Amino acid sequence: MELLLNVKNEVIKFNRMAIELPVIQQGLEVGTIQLDINTIEIKNNIYFNCDNLIECCSKLIIPVTQYDIERIEINGYEDYQIVDNFSPVILKSKTLTANSEKIYPIKRMPYTNTCTFLEDNLCSIHDFKPFACRIYPFALEVIDNNTVKVLIHTDKLCDAIKSTYDGNAQVILEHIMGYINEEMSYRIVR
Ligand code: SF4
Repeated sequence: MELLLNVKNEVIKFNRMAIELPVIQQGLEVGTIQLDINTIEIKNNIYFNCDNLIECCSKLIIPVTQYDIERIEINGYEDYQIVDNFSPVILKSKTLTANSEKIYPIKRMPYTNTCTFLEDNLCSIHDFKPFACRIYPFALEVIDNNTVKVLIHTDKLCDAIKSTYDGNAQVILEHIMGYINEEMSYRIVR
């Protein structure tokens, strides 16, 4: 137990052990988003700020949906420039707007094996990149039509996620809520 002075010079007791930091691990729940009432509940106040090491674009298999493909095509690409393999994997878990969804691995460069859209260490389709890229290094667990849990992705533990006393989970969850709302609006008119 430590004794500290507050702004009025009064002695306050401060128990360091009472402040717990989240243990960063794959699958850790960052918080929950309630889409119908636009609210956020933080479970673990982690800190994340992308450091552009592009490990994710280089090493991970990026899943793209039919909506991602269509959005990229609208911006001037052909389907063969987006995916190599047109046999989809069917995701059976609850997804954003359906109970199952077809996903395809994004096309990769022949020699480097990095994502085909990675140019000079930058995403060349940043403004319309796949939904999975928008929310990475996080993943969603859809609980019901209005409730989504945000978890640290299990594919790889991104080095830019930190456990500090100064977390920015609120901002992270707000951004992800925005991406989900955008994605759902896009899908609804399709
Ligand atoms: S689409 Fe862009 S953000 Fe997604 S993996 Fe490829 S380069 Fe990275």
